[in-house]
Amino acid sequence: MCRYIFVTGGVVSSLGKGVCAVSIAALLQAHGYRIRLKKLDPYLNVDPGTMSPYQHGEVFVTSDGEEADLDLGYYERFTDIPASKHDTITSGKIYEKLISKERKGNYLGGTVQIIPHLTDLIQDFIKFGENEVDFMICEIGGTVGDIEALPYLETIRQIRYLLGSTNVLSIHLTLLPYIATADELKTKPTQHSVKELRSIGIQPDLIICRADRAIPPSLLHKIAVACSIPNNRVIVGMDQKTIYHVPLSYYKHNIDKEILTYFGLTYSDTINLDKWHFIESGITACEKNVHVAIVGKYNSFQDAYKSLVEAFLHAGIHYKYKINLIWIDSDDPDYQINEKLHTIDGIMIPGGFGIRGIEGKIKAIEYARKNKIPLFGICLGMQLIAIEFARNVLGIKDSNSTEFTSNCANVIDLMTNWHNGEEKEMRAHTSNLGGTMRLGNYESILTHGSKIKEIYKLDQIIERHRHRFEFNINYKHAFEKAGMRVGSISADGNLVEALELDGHPWFIGVQFHPEYRSRPFSPHPLFLSFVETLIKQKKHI
Ligand code: GLN
Repeated sequence: MCRYIFVTGGVVSSLGKGVCAVSIAALLQAHGYRIRLKKLDPYLNVDPGTMSPYQHGEVFVTSDGEEADLDLGYYERFTDIPASKHDTITSGKIYEKLISKERKGNYLGGTVQIIPHLTDLIQDFIKFGENEVDFMICEIGGTVGDIEALPYLETIRQIRYLLGSTNVLSIHLTLLPYIATADELKTKPTQHSVKELRSIGIQPDLIICRADRAIPPSLLHKIAVACSIPNNRVIVGMDQKTIYHVPLSYYKHNIDKEILTYFGLTYSDTINLDKWHFIESGITACEKNVHVAIVGKYNSFQDAYKSLVEAFLHAGIHYKYKINLIWIDSDDPDYQINEKLHTIDGIMIPGGFGIRGIEGKIKAIEYARKNKIPLFGICLGMQLIAIEFARNVLGIKDSNSTEFTSNCANVIDLMTNWHNGEEKEMRAHTSNLGGTMRLGNYESILTHGSKIKEIYKLDQIIERHRHRFEFNINYKHAFEKAGMRVGSISADGNLVEALELDGHPWFIGVQFHPEYRSRPFSPHPLFLSFVETLIKQKKHI
């Protein structure tokens, strides 16, 4: 029988509901329960794919090709369970579904309303897969009080009414702000947020209070009384040095015990949390450094590269090295490549869209190629490796991507059709921007004798994709003749998945996004290999 845990947030946004939900999931997993996490986002975009990374941070891609909130990345990294398109929804998507059902005449002439029609669809989303798990943990995005989130909150209320309080637990994550002039943490915003929740029929069962300092027990008691919650279910959620400490901190504050006893389940305090201790001590044990320049364009907002930062962290923990990421804005007019890059050990060119900052990235690639600095290009990074090579080695001066100009030698171009297993997929320059990319898992074959094959130690790989443009296969021969080898290619021989430069310590570009698959407990082999090269080179000096 599946039990439901709903996580809402109050007072301010960015309190870390995602980390809260996954940390609870990790503890329940450690108790031997099967869990599934879902995210309900209130905004009206159908998915975050077309949203600016400044607005929304990274777009995470699931193996089944859904462009999703970055919290799904945490779900995978903390639980090691692949998220799917059935685990993420936005108000835009659910309204789209509702309207399309209405247009098909599915409501038989009835008046279509938020309650019950929209809330029924939300219920279907929440319940999908309930027979396979013991706990369904659902995070409601945004902050209580947001208009867009009301149908979600109403649905939670309905589910609790239908299944009974013994099967549903509501967690409210709030902030106790510190007021310096009074030298006090304040509980009033939490009380107001709970009042707001109650006004729509939801009584939280457990409150987690975020604070930047120790919370006196008297304040916790005050919240318990004001919000009608037992004392032991008002729980301290102090800021932690790393998100990987949160499951341990929750354990210390008995969250798992409170949840299991709430549901009438037996609690054992002998769970094994070794892997969390291992990660935590791994992060603090990293003393030596290597420096990696990330040449990108969202440098002031590093949430835009969340999985990338995580993948470097995971590889660093493995080797007990701190990977210092140096953010270089490739669009900076004062961008002096030699000045910025001469102290770094390796360069990463991450994925991206649009023409801004492209030439700066190409300059960094040229510098790495000529000076034998290890270089790792991801997605757009691989495409720019190809453009730089065509321009400066093959002498094709107008080499470019048709993403940036139609008037060029199209080394990177739109593939108008290809085969994905049995299915034929088609694209045109006029296709909609939303959801028209090569998305999610694709298989490719590693080239015999390539460095990338040596790294993976496999014949075939499956990696996640998120891009519209591809390496133009007509250039393959010229590239290979000049020393840029195709390291991996689709089974039909059309889609180039990796390029690597012969005679260079580490110069690999991949068309896919390996960072989505890196886990703290199993770092990605490409990141491991790249970081290992940096460390070995450093030791040499
Ligand atoms: N803009 C490029 C494309 O659409 C690369 C995308 C990416 O780096 N994720 O093909």
